[in-house]
Amino acid sequence: MKICVMPGDGIGPEIIGQAVRVLEVLRGEGLPIELETALVGGSAIDATGTPYPDDTRRLAQAAEAILFGSVGGPKWDGVARDKRPERGLLGLRKDLELFANLRPAILYPELVNASTLKPEVVAGLDILIIRELTGDIYFGEPRGMEVRAGERVGFNTMIYSESEIRRIARVGFESARKRGHKLCSVDKMNVLECTQLWRDVVTEVAAEYPDVALSHMLVDNAAMQLVKNPKQFDVIVTGNIFGDILSDEAAMLTGSIGMLPSASLDSAGKGLYEPIHGSAPDIAGRNLANPLATILSSAMMMRYTFGRADIASRIETAVRKVLASGLRTADIAEPGTRSVGTREMGDAVIGAL
Ligand code: NAD
Repeated sequence: MKICVMPGDGIGPEIIGQAVRVLEVLRGEGLPIELETALVGGSAIDATGTPYPDDTRRLAQAAEAILFGSVGGPKWDGVARDKRPERGLLGLRKDLELFANLRPAILYPELVNASTLKPEVVAGLDILIIRELTGDIYFGEPRGMEVRAGERVGFNTMIYSESEIRRIARVGFESARKRGHKLCSVDKMNVLECTQLWRDVVTEVAAEYPDVALSHMLVDNAAMQLVKNPKQFDVIVTGNIFGDILSDEAAMLTGSIGMLPSASLDSAGKGLYEPIHGSAPDIAGRNLANPLATILSSAMMMRYTFGRADIASRIETAVRKVLASGLRTADIAEPGTRSVGTREMGDAVIGAL
């Protein structure tokens, strides 16, 4: 299990530190884990002048999985656009062809009050949003701004090839197979030809997965249903722009940004695993950050890259036990719970593991 660890900036090193401790415990039990550390983002700019140094690229390509903290912060706000810390993450996604972004939105029973929705709507929520990450209107050509007939116009191109749709659809069906066997494909086929093709191809791929129940939903309705009755979903698969919006909406259903992991996968199962939150410069270096999203990202790594659902479940169960015992970092603290720091939360997860 060759893992490249990229702590990054802000709270990145603190939260990654706790996830690495979890991996070290597993290695101590005999798992063949190899860890390498690489610079990325602002810390890489400071050390080498670029957010994505060649050494980092080499280590990322040689690894089977990347555990990524977070990048960015006010220190680098003035840097030129093509040298910003975020370029490190975009460079990795592009180089490694990480086309499938998986974001689970799970609401642990103990944290039901963190959501702004009524407990009965969100209690027990466990959905997975799969967003295509390398195509769609974000990358389509032509694109630009120009003057036409005496006024400025802006334009972009929504485009998907059937091979791009097929490979993300397969990720959707395979993931549904590992969960509740239900897949909802989200499009806007009533208006956009590109997404009519999306619906046609997803329907074709469904023939290979008779054990998964496929449904289709228009994106405007999906946005409503996620708030009205989110528990109707198991796995959602959608394109880049719809997924960008719906995955943030789904994340917010849980109300706790410090709890949510994510994975970005290539077609061979190689993946980059990271918490969905950023580098939280406001709390960096103060032992305040919640490390659970990053620890849960390492669980996703075990499940999706290394095919060890058993170990993933063990890590997830350990996190649940710690929450059930009443321990909380400041971001998820409630009356009647005990507030602990980043490191103490890591200690507790390792104890439960
Ligand atoms: P953020 O996610 O860093 O922080 C938003 C709020 O959530 C802050 O109040 C922060 O303290 C809190 N928070 C986030 N993670 C937490 C954790 N683990 N535990 C406790 N509290 C947590 O978003 P932002 O403030 O908009 O961005 C800060 C920096 O992060 C920016 O430079 C931004 O570009 C960058 N960013 C990076 C990534 C990434 O690396 N993938 C993603 C988003 C933002």
